[in-house]
Amino acid sequence: IGDSADFDDEVESVCPFCGVGCQISLKVKDGKVKYVDGINGPANEGRLCVKGRFGFDYIHHDHRLTKPLIRRADAPAKGLNVDPGNWQEFFREASWDEALDFAASGLKDIGGTGVAGFGSAKCTNEEAYLFQKMIRQGFGHNNVDHCTRLCHASSVAALMENVGSGAVTATFNEIENADVAIVIGANPVENHPVAATYFKQFTKRGGKLIVMDPRGVGLRRFAYQMLQFRPGTDVSMLNAIMNVIVEEGLFDQQYIDAYTENWEAEKEHLRDFTPEKMAEVCGIEADVLRDVARTFAGAKAGMIFWGMGVSQHIHGTDNSRCLISLALMTGQVGRPGAGLHPLRGQNNVQGASDAGLIPMFLPDYQPVGDDGVRSAFTDVWKSGDFSAQKGLTVTEIMDAVHDGDIRGMYVLGENPAMSDPDVEHARDALAKLDHLVVQDIFITETANYADVILPASAFAEKSGTVTNTNRQVQMGRPAVPPPGEAREDWWIEVELAKRLGLGWTYESPADVFAEMKLNMKSLDNITWERLEAENAVTYPSLSPEDPGQPIVFGDGFPRPEGRARFTPASIIAPDDVPDAEYPMILTTGRQLEHWHTGSMTRRATVLDAVEPEANCSLHPATLRKLGVAPGGRVRLTTKRGSIEIMARMDRAVSPDMVFLPFAYVEAAANILTNPAVDPYGKIPEFKFSAVKVEAVDAI
Ligand code: SF4
Repeated sequence: IGDSADFDDEVESVCPFCGVGCQISLKVKDGKVKYVDGINGPANEGRLCVKGRFGFDYIHHDHRLTKPLIRRADAPAKGLNVDPGNWQEFFREASWDEALDFAASGLKDIGGTGVAGFGSAKCTNEEAYLFQKMIRQGFGHNNVDHCTRLCHASSVAALMENVGSGAVTATFNEIENADVAIVIGANPVENHPVAATYFKQFTKRGGKLIVMDPRGVGLRRFAYQMLQFRPGTDVSMLNAIMNVIVEEGLFDQQYIDAYTENWEAEKEHLRDFTPEKMAEVCGIEADVLRDVARTFAGAKAGMIFWGMGVSQHIHGTDNSRCLISLALMTGQVGRPGAGLHPLRGQNNVQGASDAGLIPMFLPDYQPVGDDGVRSAFTDVWKSGDFSAQKGLTVTEIMDAVHDGDIRGMYVLGENPAMSDPDVEHARDALAKLDHLVVQDIFITETANYADVILPASAFAEKSGTVTNTNRQVQMGRPAVPPPGEAREDWWIEVELAKRLGLGWTYESPADVFAEMKLNMKSLDNITWERLEAENAVTYPSLSPEDPGQPIVFGDGFPRPEGRARFTPASIIAPDDVPDAEYPMILTTGRQLEHWHTGSMTRRATVLDAVEPEANCSLHPATLRKLGVAPGGRVRLTTKRGSIEIMARMDRAVSPDMVFLPFAYVEAAANILTNPAVDPYGKIPEFKFSAVKVEAVDAI
């Protein structure tokens, strides 16, 4: 926090945390970022939340990696916690040449499908593009993925299937042109705080906000209707709402005829889902379901926003299919104030997915199984063909490591030793690897298993573009140099690729962006020079002057005959349902002050001061029953494991639920979570596990 006049330099960039993609100005003094201001970006118009404004000083933390490290021959066993201030027992310093030679030769010796890679949504588009290219070109297959698999993979699967595109159809700012909006399975007040300010303003000018969530999330106070439905019953509730729209003839027949297919099958399918029957399942009264159906169908312009409460289920794709069907049957796509918007999590999860950091698609969601698509890329890459088979996803890669089929990994900016479901399984797998290359800014929990650690750069130290939840491609710029010998990630990737024999000659991220444009139509009319000058351009951009289209699909969809599809969804129960031994429901998520596995925000002074201790939320009645005072400790046990943690009193959770943030290594939420996945998006069911809660400190 500084005096606004007290800086030597100011640099415009993008907040590194959530998918809102707020533009910021980094104020620099004596080679350090002193404070951060919001600037007039298209998504934030000068606004910032507590993370964007105060969560930056981790970049100068004394835990930063400043030199390449190689594991000592006599180091203790892999996986033991490496003290970031005292790593010498485990690792020795190395020169860049030695570390890169060692990293590359280990991967090369294993080679082929024995090697897999996890890239990161924390990196830039250019870094994501290079990462997927390295695995495909260097190892000949598609076993490359990133944390989209753990957040919105099922939403993308449903959107690709039914709309023909994995991105939002309208920016969240379009809510200002809506009169009704649904927010389901999302807690924007904590997870997309600046977007939430637009949602609140929408209600202040009379917009009707319908909030649906098993937790009474922060937007409840602003809601016209709050549907606190039973966890895991999304499909029954949404189908009941659509049943009312069908039975009362509230659908938009003209829109359906012009722009959709499979309507008759959907209509027939919905007949059984009467509000009376479904009220028993989802716990929302039939009259409320009817009112929501009439309100949304009667909107002049309506938007649907959703988050991981929708996607992180074994029926996550079905949940999104229902939301897409609801928008299509009411004609709420492709107009001002209308649209489908999955609120993307990390600042560049949209961009990393667009750049092909996923096992089934090359950049721009072009299928790996298409011979023409692959040859278009190998022509540009000047290399031979690679596998036409879809690659393995995050959890499948970890299973393959466990089974000994994958023996080498390159992990850039991800932290699977904290973020994977049933994390002890992931940790066991990481310990089995013959060669693990970790590229990061700190010694993360995953780096505890590394053979070599490559010191990388934080967002304020690098050049590159990122793409937010609104499809806005934005320019990030370096404000300070990386510490010590740490380097920008793209540079490390290029040097590693050279040692893998790939002959890469990029000299800057701009070179990489220029190559991306050759096979990514989404980047038409978007150039590095434009982004330097304008900071942000939304894709698609229709001309070199067009700032980009905030709304898409007003005149048809990128699907056969331009028609979106209704895909009926049936009820599928969660995988791990409560029983006598594990009688409650565990759901995990984020909280305002901390970001993902906490490696950055727990090292940010202000954020850590506000939220320093691992905690879970329990209803007052549950605490009373357990005999635990607010702030006392409880033990949470699932079929996978057990943790002890401070319990907070919170009326937002129902008495049969526990909410558990996953940012805290000392009580890692994913020790408890279920690795069962959605069959389409392959996303784990983080939002539902049967759990036993016991008192540790009884009153
Ligand atoms: Fe950063 Fe998201 Fe907060 Fe904006 S809303 S400042 S992008 S964390």
